[in-house]
Amino acid sequence: MMDQVDVVIVGAGVSGLTAGYRLLQKEPHLKIVVLEANDRVGGRTLTLDVCLPSGRKEPFDFGGQWVCTTQTHVMNMIKELDLEVYRQNTSGKKVAWVGENPTRHVYDTEFPFNDCSEIQGFIEEMEELSQKVPIEDPYSSPYAEELDSITLETLLTKKLKNKAVKDAFEAQVRGTLGAESSRLSALYFLAFANSAGGIMRLFLARDGDGQEFRVKGGTQQISQILAAKIGWDKIFLGQPVKIISQNYDGITVTTDGGFIFRGKYAIVSTPPNCTAKIEFNPPMPEIRRLFLNHMPMGHFTKFNIIYDKAYWLEEGLSGELTSNGGKTFVPGISAGPLGIVFDATTDNGVPALVGFIAAKNGVEWNKVDREVRKRAVLEDLAKAFGPWALNPVLYTEKNWSEEPYAGGCPVAYNVPGVAFSFKSFREPHGRYVRP
Ligand SMILES: Cc1cc2nc3c(=O)[nH]c(=O)nc-3n(C[C@H](O)[C@H](O)[C@H](O)COP(=O)(O)OP(=O)(O)OC[C@H]3O[C@@H](n4cnc5c(N)ncnc54)[C@H](O)[C@@H]3O)c2cc1C
Repeated sequence: MMDQVDVVIVGAGVSGLTAGYRLLQKEPHLKIVVLEANDRVGGRTLTLDVCLPSGRKEPFDFGGQWVCTTQTHVMNMIKELDLEVYRQNTSGKKVAWVGENPTRHVYDTEFPFNDCSEIQGFIEEMEELSQKVPIEDPYSSPYAEELDSITLETLLTKKLKNKAVKDAFEAQVRGTLGAESSRLSALYFLAFANSAGGIMRLFLARDGDGQEFRVKGGTQQISQILAAKIGWDKIFLGQPVKIISQNYDGITVTTDGGFIFRGKYAIVSTPPNCTAKIEFNPPMPEIRRLFLNHMPMGHFTKFNIIYDKAYWLEEGLSGELTSNGGKTFVPGISAGPLGIVFDATTDNGVPALVGFIAAKNGVEWNKVDREVRKRAVLEDLAKAFGPWALNPVLYTEKNWSEEPYAGGCPVAYNVPGVAFSFKSFREPHGRYVRP
């Protein structure tokens, strides 16, 4: 199959579909196609109907879930598509399970041990540092070379002596980026935090913070509605793009399924690790290939656990947990599965907890049977919250490393030493140089 269009969009996640929708809003006569490798739209957003024992189906997000006021693009889109958001529950005390010999620490400050002067000074210093790292080009920061030559872990070890506080910070990093702080470039982390408006903005659920709102009915609807607005006849599912060639006259995009589209431009919206697998003719500049090849994806196995009532609220808890995992009964695994947990009660009032088995911990726990993992998750929740946690109505989970066209989640990150090539990531490849 060969067809001539104006624009070929690669990837039908929120980014690719937004690009298609905005193009058609501006130029309704443009001919566009969206080529998607998967058999669904939505990419790293995935809303599944969970069947409750009553037979009723309730949508739960197994991919991207929270949105916030400071994410202005997605918030505007949600409004434009007539979707609604609802507030993440934060009322009640939180629990931390961190330190050398972890014990249950119940707190009602914003961050665990926030009342300790070491953490206050540390957070202030880190926030200030993060504000000095420009989002558009972190390498233009005055400390770029120094900060990109070390991992976040090195920076934390230098600045934090208190093991419990360091554990809490690292649990939040794993729960936000799906990666160990020992894998992340310190500079990259600070730029990522700056793009969210600050480090605490990333971790917390106050007004304007990362975990502020959820979307009624789930986030995958954003892509499903956008696809319908673009026109399903323009969206080709199950078509992994293999080759993108270009010359001065245009581009040619070839899929694994044998589809060939010629167009004037291509918009590639795939995660960096997937973009690196596409053959570009002519090839991308070396600096950009280097960057793409040094952006691994994080790892999450995300669980949604449904209970018959919100026991945590009855006990004055918000359902929020920050954990270093603690000890585990399973041989060969370094720590228990828990990292961060939040209340996931839906807008329809179905009580649930959501959490992530993240980073190295997630990879290790995926080696064991689901039943063993489930038992470990429930037992650790019981230690943190109470014995009621052992008896959910339903345990559900999703391992994102199994998704061939994401290869991990929630986002790609930078290892140290590549920030000098960051700017190349945002530059168009090729067609802009037409004489
Ligand atoms: C478990 C989880 C929790 C998260 N939590 C949050 C959160 O709470 N808040 C938040 O803001 N973000 C969160 N995120 C991140 C957020 O979901 C993503 O940043 C966002 O969905 C990325 O959208 P995208 O369109 O840029 O990329 P993607 O959604 O990855 O879309 C890219 C598309 O390209 C397709 N593709 C890949 N390769 C090819 C190819 N060769 N040819 C054709 N198509 C291809 C993929 O199948 C995919 O559909 C989370 C992600 C996950 C997985």
